[in-house]
Amino acid sequence: MAYTVTLIPGDGIGPEVSTAMRRVIEATGVPIEWDVQQAGESVIAEYGTPLPDHVLDSIRRNRVGIKGPITTPVGKGFRSVNVSLRKALDLYANLRPAKTIPTRQPIPGLSRYDDVDLIIVRENTEGLYVGIEHDVIPDEAAEAIRIITRRASERVVRFAFEYARQNGRRLVTAVHKANILKLTDGLFLRSAQRVAEEYPDIAFNDRIVDNLCMQLVQRPQEYDVLVLPNLFGDIVSDLCSGLVGGLGVTPGANMGDGIAVFEPVHGSAPKYTGQNKVNPTAMIRSGALMLRFLGEVEAAERVERAVTQVIAEGKYVTYDLKPTRDDPTAVGTQEMAEAIIAAL
Ligand code: NAD
Repeated sequence: MAYTVTLIPGDGIGPEVSTAMRRVIEATGVPIEWDVQQAGESVIAEYGTPLPDHVLDSIRRNRVGIKGPITTPVGKGFRSVNVSLRKALDLYANLRPAKTIPTRQPIPGLSRYDDVDLIIVRENTEGLYVGIEHDVIPDEAAEAIRIITRRASERVVRFAFEYARQNGRRLVTAVHKANILKLTDGLFLRSAQRVAEEYPDIAFNDRIVDNLCMQLVQRPQEYDVLVLPNLFGDIVSDLCSGLVGGLGVTPGANMGDGIAVFEPVHGSAPKYTGQNKVNPTAMIRSGALMLRFLGEVEAAERVERAVTQVIAEGKYVTYDLKPTRDDPTAVGTQEMAEAIIAAL
């Protein structure tokens, strides 16, 4: 019997990387029926919202979805579809692995470190992303409200520890700014300390976020699983992407209880839309995380090995994985996907 998966191609580079992902996942032979749903700016005229109810209903029905990035207007316009979707489906943990990919020849950026292996777990439903803002005096002063609750903090930290236990990880680090945000991040930290006591088999420590960023750049090998409130998690996961090759290679998963939506860490990179240029790896690896969630572990491992092999060989890769950005031997999005399919 085939799995039914909601597929939201997204916009910008989303449709291109989604096509590449779909071709690779189908090449594994795992039977999947794609329930394709559109969201974002392009559907507003028809449905009056960028995230229509039927899209959410499709994911609720199928329990698993995968999405390309969706553009959010900066400084105006509608609320982020990505944030709304995570909130509406209570996808409370955003899992973003960042692991070094070995390469044959040094590639600036990609091979800065040869042994990074980090798991970022970002709280996905509250913090500053509740989006409660108002003008105090228009164009003079504005306020945003940051919500931290014990319930959301404890469950995301518990997710991090469960992940650590199931995946043989040794250390969970809670990241915060509790020296300044004494109430909100103080609560997050205390919640983390409480949950840590339930997991005596896994080491626990905490770091202030600014210090952590410096240490991640100097000695990323000292960290293992990081758990963070929403905004810090967003920023630190991009930083960690930068340690292992950039946004083109890092996958992600939004996890709830028995429901998940997979998506790359990167956004819709509008300037590259329709050019068959960007790296499909992050989206393909998100597809591999989805296969794991479906229980298709062997197929997921084959995809991950094929991706690693193609990148390590360095021949059929997109511009961002070449020694220089204007390397004329770089291939396009679909050609890289074809090389991954051949390696499968
Ligand atoms: P971005 O991730 O889209 O792009 C930043 C830069 O990263 C790009 O210019 C490009 O150089 C590089 N990059 C990104 N993806 C790449 C890929 N697959 N291959 C190679 N290089 C890649 O970030 P941004 O420019 O800050 O945001 C653009 C839009 O995407 C915004 O509207 C933002 O709100 C949205 N966004 C959406 C999501 C999501 O859908 N989950 C996440 C982040 C940003």
